[in-house]
Amino acid sequence: MKMKTGFSFKAMWNEKCPRCREGYIFEKPFRISDPLAMPKRCPVCGQVTEPEPGFYYGAMFLSYIVSGFMLLIPALLLVFGLKWSVEAAMLFTLVFAGIAYLKVLRGARSLWLHMVVKYDPGYDKMNIPPSKN
Ligand SMILES: [Zn+2]
Repeated sequence: MKMKTGFSFKAMWNEKCPRCREGYIFEKPFRISDPLAMPKRCPVCGQVTEPEPGFYYGAMFLSYIVSGFMLLIPALLLVFGLKWSVEAAMLFTLVFAGIAYLKVLRGARSLWLHMVVKYDPGYDKMNIPPSKN
């Protein structure tokens, strides 16, 4: 069987652990009061979800950049391409931002972790520290 290594967009998008691609890196079920709650370790392979303090500051900037482009480009297209009024395009952008907000926040964290942690399907299954949540 061919070893699968490298980046998986699917695992990143589905907010799965980059190491085993099985465990979720966000707590389920989803809590509206704390949408970014993450278990300390992946429930499947024990991968630490926050490798160092402040690890996700970078993800925060990433989410700013992603959401900036994600909102700017459709707004410009609506105004200059489809000749919408600025007010209408602004309203659309706000609604779209509201819907996409959480996905972008989580997606940026997921992407960030996926850029650092490599896929390792042969992780040491006998040596998984107990998860303390
Ligand atoms: Zn895992």
